Amino acid sequence: MDKILRVDMGAEGGPKTRIEPVGEFAGLGGRAMTTAIVSREVHPLCHPLGAENKLVIAPGSLSGTAASMSGRISVGCKSPLTGGIKESNAGGQAAQVLARLGYAAIVLEGKPEGDDLYKIFINKDGVQVSVDNSLKNLNNYPLVEKLQGQYGERAAFMTIGIAGEMKLLAASIACTDPEKRPTRHCGRGGTGAVMGAKRVKAIILDDAGLKMRPPKDPEKFRDANRRFVEGLRKHPITGEGLPAYGTNVLTNVLNEAGAYPTNNFRTGRFGGAARIAGEVQAELEVKRGGSATHGCHRGCVIQCSGIYHDKDGNYVTKQPEYETVWAHGGNCGIDDLDVIARLDYLDDNFGVDTMDTGAAVGVAMEAGLIPFGDGPGAIRLVEEIGKGTPLGRILGCGAAVTGKVFGVERVPVCKGQAMAAYDPRSVMGIGVTYATSTQGADHTAGYSVGPNILKSGGNLDPLNPEGQVEMSRNLQIATAAVDSTGMCLFIAFPLLDQPDTFQALLDMIGAFHGVPVTGDDVTALGKSILKMERDFNTRAGFSKADDRLPRFFLQEPIPPHNVTFTVKDEDLDNVFNW
Ligand code: SF4
Repeated sequence: MDKILRVDMGAEGGPKTRIEPVGEFAGLGGRAMTTAIVSREVHPLCHPLGAENKLVIAPGSLSGTAASMSGRISVGCKSPLTGGIKESNAGGQAAQVLARLGYAAIVLEGKPEGDDLYKIFINKDGVQVSVDNSLKNLNNYPLVEKLQGQYGERAAFMTIGIAGEMKLLAASIACTDPEKRPTRHCGRGGTGAVMGAKRVKAIILDDAGLKMRPPKDPEKFRDANRRFVEGLRKHPITGEGLPAYGTNVLTNVLNEAGAYPTNNFRTGRFGGAARIAGEVQAELEVKRGGSATHGCHRGCVIQCSGIYHDKDGNYVTKQPEYETVWAHGGNCGIDDLDVIARLDYLDDNFGVDTMDTGAAVGVAMEAGLIPFGDGPGAIRLVEEIGKGTPLGRILGCGAAVTGKVFGVERVPVCKGQAMAAYDPRSVMGIGVTYATSTQGADHTAGYSVGPNILKSGGNLDPLNPEGQVEMSRNLQIATAAVDSTGMCLFIAFPLLDQPDTFQALLDMIGAFHGVPVTGDDVTALGKSILKMERDFNTRAGFSKADDRLPRFFLQEPIPPHNVTFTVKDEDLDNVFNW
């Protein structure tokens, strides 16, 4: 990965490509790369959908190698949803293929005049940017099917559906999985809208004729990877819970803990939780001929995903993740897995973030558009996005916009981005992460649910504000570093609980680059990324006031624990003082 592809979509006479040496960005991958380029090259006050914004796509530093779990791709830009810096990553095949093609990043710059739609094809022979208006208005599933007919089985695809073309603020970028389904999404922050603003409908990546990236020390690399995989397999979360039941194994856990936001964050327990939990979902998937265990990219050994079929045995969607099952399920009072699976499919097909869309539907229910628990009504609302109606465009812009348009006071967002499936009052550590993350409310930015609820990576009372800031800080630092390797974040459970697994990862990185790596190096990398992101957001106009939860979380106790969020403002202001 020694080169960067820049595509000037706004060049005179049509898009122009140039390939540059990686230069000052050498050694960076994933979030470190996207953040470095965006923070240095994008004006923080630019309009996110304008020509000055850039869309940066970067495989992780270990992507394209034989390292297990290394297939996450990062997409960065100034977010149209939050107005701050954004990094959103996804699984699928794109990272591995792009890395093998030798690109450390693709940077989409400028903005074309007119309404032509483009596709970008990259293989070992070079890069072709071409107009293809036959792709207009296609959603992700039919789009990928059409492209597959042209580019064959081998290619990986990154695409936008109708939501990206409409530049909706919750629009995602879909990445195809090993079966070439557009099921893995850079969902958060509206990256799909930025791709749509650049009029790029699809990026097609083909690594035919290319090999895996070779490590500097192959023997040490193999040995470290073996120890790393052993560590993943022996940990109860990554070795048992996630492969058997997927991330939705968390539904019963969070519900039991009284931290499962129900009916737009009204209560912490959902009466229908047992009907949509991972255990039931997995049983149904197997019974209907789908699968309860599936990897989103080759080289994943945890395999937290699955395949969801309908009652007649026909494919509906990939296994909806815990956060999706919650967003369209308990958050909306819906306890029907078939309804939730249909909503997951619609989100993937139109290309919108399942969390912000589910949260928007919850806010619409709060506004009285349909009642809580109305599954068919929720499907009708999300279908409006695909039709491009004014209501659909509002919902497709996420919970914050929906709340403003319909006059709703209780809107669960930070920096304009919807919260996930953990109530910040009964999991105070995640409240700190939601409030202070550079990304807006983002549970993955510092997954305090581990120590607060799962007792992984520590053990901290979720209802007590003490110690939450320090824990969230450390997790945010570690996460920023992990997001740079291309590693799936689920490796964090064994990394935090098993020192030998953490050492195996350090050894693997060291053997790949031929330079020893220490835990201090990882911490320094994480801090440097967060510093760049904080600095960008400050220059974009963010202040302490943006590092706060909506007031109702401080005022409205949530049953069953009847607690409010009590971490002090001055403590929140210390998250980034290290
Ligand atoms: S554990 Fe799940 S999210 Fe992570 S790489 Fe595997 S299938 Fe993808």
